[in-house]
Amino acid sequence: MGSEHKISQPGKVVHFDRRGSKGPLPTTPASGGELGTTLCRELLSARAAGQSAQLLVFRISNFDLLVETFGPDFGNAAEAALLEQLRGLLRRREPVQRIQPGEFGIVGQGIRSEEALRAMTSRVVEGGTGHYEIEGVPCRLKLQIGVAACPTDSDEPEELLHFARFALRGLGDSLDSCRSFSRDELTRRKAMFRMEAEMEKALEEQRFILQYQPQFAVSSGAVTGMEALVRLVRDDGTRVAPGEFIPLAEDNGFIVRLGHWIIREACEQLARWRAADLYVPRIALNVSPRQLQDPRLVEVTESAVADNGLSMSDLEFEITERCMLGESEKVTETLTSLRQRGVRLAIDDFGTGYSSFAYLAWQPLDLIKLDRSFLARVGNDSRTDAVVQGMVNMARQLGLGLVAEGVENEQQANFLRRVGCEVAQGFALAHPQDPEAITQLLVEAECA
Ligand code: C2E
Ligand code: MG
Ligand code: MG
Repeated sequence: MGSEHKISQPGKVVHFDRRGSKGPLPTTPASGGELGTTLCRELLSARAAGQSAQLLVFRISNFDLLVETFGPDFGNAAEAALLEQLRGLLRRREPVQRIQPGEFGIVGQGIRSEEALRAMTSRVVEGGTGHYEIEGVPCRLKLQIGVAACPTDSDEPEELLHFARFALRGLGDSLDSCRSFSRDELTRRKAMFRMEAEMEKALEEQRFILQYQPQFAVSSGAVTGMEALVRLVRDDGTRVAPGEFIPLAEDNGFIVRLGHWIIREACEQLARWRAADLYVPRIALNVSPRQLQDPRLVEVTESAVADNGLSMSDLEFEITERCMLGESEKVTETLTSLRQRGVRLAIDDFGTGYSSFAYLAWQPLDLIKLDRSFLARVGNDSRTDAVVQGMVNMARQLGLGLVAEGVENEQQANFLRRVGCEVAQGFALAHPQDPEAITQLLVEAECA
């Protein structure tokens, strides 16, 4: 026998040795496009018969790593071992076709329910995933499957391949092993690419702007600070809210460059107000976890402050609890260094997500911003009232400032006054506004 293999189930260890390997397994034949004639024919015949079919595309998820580590011959042997293993588990009408290295396809026919589809995909995944011994090397092959349905998703074989691969890629490093194509997800992905390009262009064309939302002393109504909030202005003048691009900017790292612009812009604006003799004690900037990993953050902040004749204590950085998660050395170092230079540090949206009281004892912290979901419930729910009162007391005891976010009505403002909260921010007091409108507001406040 030219090749030696041993397949054992259960507790499966597959031994495979394809001696005298003559190079890679044949990939798809020339006709039938990338998908190959067999799979293509099956899909087209299902389509002609008016029947539904599923294209299952599966990959050895660690294939590239294995080939990089052990070489291409090992990759060929791994594929052959997998096919051998699957051959015993699949029906004759389910021929497996290799599409490209580490990637295979099967057409599922007559699958009429989710359960039937699940049964077939788990037959492949569970059957193929496991421990193998390939050419004397013990290794684990792990399969992941993407599924596209004909004709629901598409009735074109090549498009089905594209969609099944899209679903497969969506699995990423997750522990899930199977995913069906979703058109909504494709639409979202396309929008994400568009937004990525739009953000780049907007930065180049200076189409990001900052609005400012004042924060007020509850007792006197004096402005205690301004929170800078970024918006993207489209060519047609419409404004895109940060919720639509900040998460993406965080994911792809764009937030670092955008953040530099925000810091400079906010400092310039504060200097303009100061030059006009308008009193703004400080500006609060939102800083996302990714920005705290930026080795230039401190330097960029210092130069923006110096260039505008400000001091570091004119700035407050709002970080979310997510920044503190795991509290990497780099993040702690950056925050400590900012704090030592005078920047005030706030925890934004406190009470959502991963609230931990441990953060409150964290030394460099200056203040907490109580998430607006608390205020939304005060007055209707005695427990929330008690929580807010407790937070106010605790902040005072810890020597921390406290800003209540999301004050939307008079009742909430009165409540804050009653419990002794010092600073408030919200639509009932002032919406986020363009700098010119804020200038007007400051002028009126000075005249009052
Ligand atoms: P955030 O830092 O918690 O900002 C407060 C958000 O609540 C703002 O939304 C503001 O318009 C809104 N808001 C203020 N008062 C009220 C109120 O009374 N009721 C309600 N319902 N909402 C109120 P916006 O501007 O859409 O910002 C959303 C989030 O986007 C911010 O939440 C912040 O996490 C992020 N973000 C905004 N600007 C920046 C930025 O320059 N850099 C970074 N990294 N993130 C930013
Ligand atoms: Mg904020
Ligand atoms: Mg907030």
